[in-house]
Order: sequence, then structure tokens, then C-alpha cells
Amino acid sequence: MAEVPEKPSDFIREIIARDNETGKFGQRVHTRFPPEPNGYLHIGHAKSICLNFGIARDSGGLCNLRFDDTNPTKEEVEYVDSIKEDVRWLGFDWEDRLFYASDYFGKLYEYAVQLIKAGKAYVCDLTADEIREYRGTLTEPGKESPYRDRSVEESLDLFRRMREGEFPDGSRTLRAKIDMASGNINMRDPVMYRILHAEHHRTGSKWCIYPMYDYAHCVSDSLEGITHSICTLEFEDHRPLYDWFLDELKAYHPQQIEFARLNLSNTVLSKRKLIRLVREGHVKGWDDPRMPTISGFRRRGYTPEAIRNFCDRIGVAKRDSTVEAALLEHCIREDLNKRVPRAMAVLRPLRVVITNCPEGREEELEAVNNPEDPSMGVRKVSFSKVLYIERDDFREDPPKDFFRLAPGREVRLRYAYFITCTGFVKDPATGEIVELQCVYDPATRGGDSPDGRKVKATLHWVSASRALPAEVRLYDYLFLTAEPSGPAEGDFASSLNLNSLETLTSCYVEPGLRDAAPGSRWQFERQGYFCVDPDSGDERLVFNRTVTLKDTWAKIEKKQKKH
Ligand code: ATP
Ligand code: MG
Repeated sequence: MAEVPEKPSDFIREIIARDNETGKFGQRVHTRFPPEPNGYLHIGHAKSICLNFGIARDSGGLCNLRFDDTNPTKEEVEYVDSIKEDVRWLGFDWEDRLFYASDYFGKLYEYAVQLIKAGKAYVCDLTADEIREYRGTLTEPGKESPYRDRSVEESLDLFRRMREGEFPDGSRTLRAKIDMASGNINMRDPVMYRILHAEHHRTGSKWCIYPMYDYAHCVSDSLEGITHSICTLEFEDHRPLYDWFLDELKAYHPQQIEFARLNLSNTVLSKRKLIRLVREGHVKGWDDPRMPTISGFRRRGYTPEAIRNFCDRIGVAKRDSTVEAALLEHCIREDLNKRVPRAMAVLRPLRVVITNCPEGREEELEAVNNPEDPSMGVRKVSFSKVLYIERDDFREDPPKDFFRLAPGREVRLRYAYFITCTGFVKDPATGEIVELQCVYDPATRGGDSPDGRKVKATLHWVSASRALPAEVRLYDYLFLTAEPSGPAEGDFASSLNLNSLETLTSCYVEPGLRDAAPGSRWQFERQGYFCVDPDSGDERLVFNRTVTLKDTWAKIEKKQKKH
């Protein structure tokens, strides 16, 4: 059942509720998600997607997907396809409202001609460097271009010839004629069109002039009848320019609303930086499970539900801040805990021989699939003479606070029996322990002792004869510092965590995981949540660790509640 929110949960929804009361847009709510197809989407985009599609859904409105494809040199069809896949995977649907700014190139050109005719735009022959020089600074006004007062006829003629390809790249621009002394630099005769002889992924070589983002974006919003044009804070200073264009064109005005972009600790959220991680080979690709991209998170085993929940929880604000990665991980755990089956896997195996277990015996014991959800049932795990346990679960000389297996000590094997360590074998060359000898107590079948005898530890294990070999990839944060994009960090590559991937190749998992499909998820008892990687095949099972079991966020929250 859908929950009906009693009052708007954030300031954007408040503005929209107010607009609906006053009838500003005739009760219409129409938002859009406008990515530039110059990279894969990241978790910051997920926030924007949840906001735009979420608001439309909650208010019975519509949300468009629009590619802001005005920059042909940086855009690729691969990005367009990945963005569509990611939006769908997150659980949103643009129905028949898939648009491209390039759909409007014809209209944008006509509107530009209209502005020239009205004396509000002119063709300028300054180079890019000169335009920058003339622009002035925050404290100094700009200087007017010597071409500013060129006649309407001359600008019209030059603009037409720009379009026809008569001039080389960078030789001329079309600029809005606004105010070179404006306190807002965006208003100092911004460039509307540039010459660029480049193939566009949709319009091919039809155009050799391309509209600038600021001009195309506001006109696209207007043409699509967007009511609330939601964007990040850095566009606040662009709003007067958008208003100017739409006023001069006597066009329909959406309401722009700015919110703070999401920053996530220990990672970077900027396509420019993410592209560098991919191109410089710091990660294996856009969908590397360490990447904060939607495709990386998908491969890592994150669920769309958990990501949406995270986006709801962080809310929207007017001030920039950094959200702890621990909160995102907490949301993932919370979701996976309820829905995924448990299994046993040994990541760093140590061989255990149960000396009082007959050779060749295979015993089937019952294990619970999910203690949180009895409806998920039970499964069989097989117990036999040779088992594997986790290397870390044994110490020859246990320190005081180590309660797991040690010589002479008894522990419980989950779902199986109590075992006692009676001896061990060391590699004579390295001194490494290579095998344990243990005895099991047949009276403790299922892991309960009939005489009320207590053990201080319960270990996971697998049967050596039945377990499947597997590769397990463990991930850590890509960056060592909480804010690698912070101003003090300099070159971000210097804060990269060089140990963000650990590959374990001699792991063993329960036999029931043989046919686990890529993408399927499990909790490996005591180890964390894992999913099957697409690299997994018949010869080799490959798992990604999605997230550990240690919930640092829950701890932080508990502490905060206490104080
Ligand atoms: P980046 O800096 O990562 O390249 P961008 O803003 O250039 O981001 P766009 O493709 O233009 O990327 O973004 C599409 C939409 O997603 C925009 O409306 C933008 O405001 C929003 N968006 C991008 N990054 C974030 C973020 N970190 N938090 C919230 N929204 C974001
Ligand atoms: Mg952008």
C-alpha cells in the first residue's frame, strides 16, 4: 500500500505543494532528469533521479528523461545507453518522454535568430582567450566586445554563414547582448553558440555550430513545459540568465529550484574525475564494484531499493555537505538482511580432520536460510570427516580475549556439532599451521549440547568433500581520505587507496551455490553480504563482497541517541 505523506518532506516538495495551492502551474507537476551523456551515472545522479521521478510520482505528475547532448566531442552512445539502463534499474520509468536537447537544435537556432533580430544577440569575432580577458573578474567589470554594436543584418548574415560551415572552429561565436558590467559574470554577454566541426551522436554532421549548455538547457525546459526545474546549487547564479533568455523570447518559464549536491565520503562524485579513474586504470571500468557509479553498485550487489531508501534518508538541503559512506552501507545491510539467504563460505581455509568421524561418511544437517524470515525455509549442509574452517578462527597461543578454537578448546560448528581441538600439524619449513585434528561430540547434533555445556564461539565451516572452490573479491574504499575532492587534497590520485581490492582465490562455498546466477546475493555467515560477479562461470565461481556485517553507522547512531 502506498503511504500518503502527511506533509511535504522537504523544501522542494513544500514549494511544489504551495504552487499547487496557488495554481501557479494549474496543478501541473512536470519535472525532468537532464543528464549530459558524457559518463556513467553516479550516486549523486541517483539522488537527482529519486527526487525528480519521486516528486512526479508522488504528485501525480510527469518526469522526462532528457539528454543534454550539446557537447558532441565528449558524448557517446555508450553513455546514453548506460544512463537509460541505470534509470530503469533504479526503478523509474520515463514512459514515452525520452528527449534530447539535440531534438531542439532547429528551434534553438530559430530562437537565436529571433534574439539577433531583436538586437539581443550578436556575432563576435573575439577568440576564446580574448572573450575570457574581456569578461573581467568578480571585482572588475568586463569590457565590451568591439563587435558588440555590429548591425543586426551583419550578425544575421554571419550567423547564417557560421551555420553553413564557412568559418573554422573557434573563429566566431554568437553572444547574448546583456551587460558587461553586471555583478553576475554569467550575464556578461555569455556565448550562446560556438563553431565546432564535429560529428554529433544523433545529428551527425548536420550542424557545425552547437548551442552552449546555458542557452540550450533553459530553452529545453521551457519547450517541454517543465514546471519545476530542479538542479544543483551551482546553477543558482545561472538562474538570472535563464530568466533573461526566456523573457526575451517571451517563452514559458519553469520555476528553477536549487538543492545541494550529494558528496559521499571516501570517494569522488564528478564524471570528470571518475573518467580519470577509468582511463588511468585505477579501476577496471565504469562498473568496477569500487566505483560510486550506479553500474558499479549494481555489480557490487547493492539493490535499487536500498539506494532509493538512502536517497530518501539523506533528504535535500540548501547547504553542501558530505554524507558518510557508512550510512549508504547501513541502508544496503538493512535491505539485504531481510531478503537474502544465508550460506557458509570459508574465505581463508584451514583444513580440519575430525578424527572420530568415519572415513567416507556424509551427514546431512539442517540449516536455516534466513533467521529474519522463516518463510525462506531450511536447507541441508553436509558434514564429513574433513572440513574447512577460517584460518583466523584458530590460534595456537590464544590471547585472553580470543574465544574461538585453540588447542584443547571446544567450540560449536554452526548447525552441526561441538568440536574440540586435539592437535595440529605445522609445515616444517614455514611453521605455518596446515591442519587441525579435532574430535566431535555426536551428542551435540544440530549444535545443542544435551547437558547444557556452554561454548564461547560458533564457527562457520564447509565440508571439504562437497564444497565448491571460489574466488572472492573484497573491496575497500577507493580513497583513503574522507573528502578526496576537498580543496586541500591537491591531485586526487595521491589519496587513492592502493589496497582497495583484495582477491582471494582459494575460498570454498557451500555446494548449494553451484548454480547461483550472476547478480544473486547471499549472506556468508559471519563474513558479510556477497553477490555473484558476472565473471563467474562454470569453471570458476566469483563472488563480490557487497558489504561487511560490521555496521559502523548503527554504532554512530546509537551513540548519538545516548548523548
Ligand atoms: P558531474 O559533476 O558528476 O559531471 P553534472 O552535474 O555535470 O555532474 P549532469 O549529467 O549534468 O552531471 O547531471 C544530471 C543531473 O544530475 C543534473 O540535474 C545535476 O544537477 C544532477 N547531479 C549531478 N551530480 C549530482 C550530485 N552529486 N548530487 C545531486 N545531484 C547531482
Ligand atoms: Mg553538468
